[in-house]
Amino acid sequence: MIYRINETHDTTLRSWVESANQPGCDFPVQNLPYGVFRRRGSIEGFRIGVAIGEQILDLRKAYAAGAFDDADDLTLAAIEATRAPTLNALMALGPEAWQALRLALSRLLRESAPAQVTLRQALLPQDEAEYSLPAKIGDYTDFYTSIHHATAVGRLFRPDAPLLPNYKWVPIGYHGRASSIGVSGQNVRRPTGQIKAPDQAAPVVAPSARLDFELEVGILIGGSNPLGEPVPIDKAESKIFGLCLLNDWSARDIQAWEYQPLGPFLSKNFATTLSPWVVTLEALTPFRTPWSRPADDPPPMPYLDSAATRSFAGLDIDLEVLIQTARMREAGEAPERLSRSNFRHSYWSVSQLITHHTLSGCNLQAGDLLGSGTQSGPTPAEAGSLLELSCGGRKPLALNNGEQRTFLEDGDTVVLRAWADKAGFTRIGFGEASGTIIEPYSASI
Ligand code: CA
Repeated sequence: MIYRINETHDTTLRSWVESANQPGCDFPVQNLPYGVFRRRGSIEGFRIGVAIGEQILDLRKAYAAGAFDDADDLTLAAIEATRAPTLNALMALGPEAWQALRLALSRLLRESAPAQVTLRQALLPQDEAEYSLPAKIGDYTDFYTSIHHATAVGRLFRPDAPLLPNYKWVPIGYHGRASSIGVSGQNVRRPTGQIKAPDQAAPVVAPSARLDFELEVGILIGGSNPLGEPVPIDKAESKIFGLCLLNDWSARDIQAWEYQPLGPFLSKNFATTLSPWVVTLEALTPFRTPWSRPADDPPPMPYLDSAATRSFAGLDIDLEVLIQTARMREAGEAPERLSRSNFRHSYWSVSQLITHHTLSGCNLQAGDLLGSGTQSGPTPAEAGSLLELSCGGRKPLALNNGEQRTFLEDGDTVVLRAWADKAGFTRIGFGEASGTIIEPYSASI
């Protein structure tokens, strides 16, 4: 493992930003996730910040205020990379620079830090901010790492062969669409596509009537590998800058007609929503878990296996998905939880995804995005999509206010949340990734 538990994870640390010390806070001083923000409604340039409690530390302002005047060369290189309007330059530097900057930020934001006097003017409350994507995402690949999701969905699409024979050997993925990735808070226009009902001879062009979410973890790549040179499993984690939440919006009726033989296309290419904050792999060090396979399953092939992978390639991250319908919003009701799961159920580790992705020689680049695939847990209530929760649309879900849902309706807001919590360490959160469905494009096409 690249990272060890160190002073930045010390659970006794408190911040001079008071809201960071509240129990249950997503962004205590032990977290320090990066995002790209500006003052809401302004025409200011987007810039990089770090979430601390209910505030954002503006790294350009912190740098200009002299907070890094005494920094060593590595830290200086890292903070200078944050003067860009996206995280790509910082992501390109690699783990040593990321560790140096995290340590510097941890020391600056601690209760006793003398810099707090000047740094207070570099804070912006999160409720006065708007966000942009954390990185310019060059390429996006979506995987399929929950065997529970793959089996449940396979049963709906192919009752005779739910889990295809390759699943336990190869991390299944497809190349997704980067241009339609957006940030939390966005509106998502209901997509139109070709849809063919089972009892019809020919498809029609229509807005999707089976619009769904997928509860996923996003993995943002840092560093790169040269074209033609695979990343060995024990180097794979050095290519992970951090993790975020990812909603892979999916039109099931379009998907069912188009997906064979080359996989999803228009059913997935209209929108993907990310959370604004990227939680670094170092911040997640206390929440690593052993990675294992059921004894009857084939062991991973040698290029996907290592002692380190088996010891701690898993990540214990709680995940949940909530819905707020238009009626709930008008009545002032909070979002209602639909499902809860955990990333430790993933059949493949993030390191295995990176190594497999590059086995062919494919070059990953700083700012590339990998989706984990829908993270459904072992029981039906832990499903990460409406397709599973409503049994393919056959069993509507009853909401607390009397409404029912099989798939999403216009006005529905879907909220993904995540956090990691373990005895002896400080809980850290991911914030949220939310998106609201709006009516389809109305002009004729
Ligand atoms: Ca997906």
